[in-house]
Amino acid sequence: MSIFTKILQREIPSEILFENDSVFAIKDIAPQAPIHLLIIPKKEIENLQSANDPKIFEEMLKAVQHLAKEFGIENGYRLVVNNGKGAGQTVDHLHFHLLGGKTLSHSFK
Ligand code: 5GP
Repeated sequence: MSIFTKILQREIPSEILFENDSVFAIKDIAPQAPIHLLIIPKKEIENLQSANDPKIFEEMLKAVQHLAKEFGIENGYRLVVNNGKGAGQTVDHLHFHLLGGKTLSHSFK
């Protein structure tokens, strides 16, 4: 079971900011911007590359739009997916990083 599933099942404490039938969102424990949220499908999909259900992407992206508005960052945010070890993925349960709350540099390094 992934750490995110443990959070969803309330085995590990973390405020659930948003939840519907297919996705949920939490704050990142080690924020890299003033606002750093994680949007996560309830189903344990390992990574973006192995995801094959377009409905999940639709739900995740709708959650991004909703949360960006709720957190007042709809005019400046970045959406990041780390896919695989080579990109620094540390939790093998698909998630979007939603970053904002400051002026973000253009660099992706
Ligand atoms: P990745 O490195 O896989 O792209 O992102 C995993 C993210 O999960 C990291 O940014 C990390 O800080 C966050 N994270 C890891 N464990 C926990 C936890 O127990 N609670 C929360 N809220 N975030 C976590």
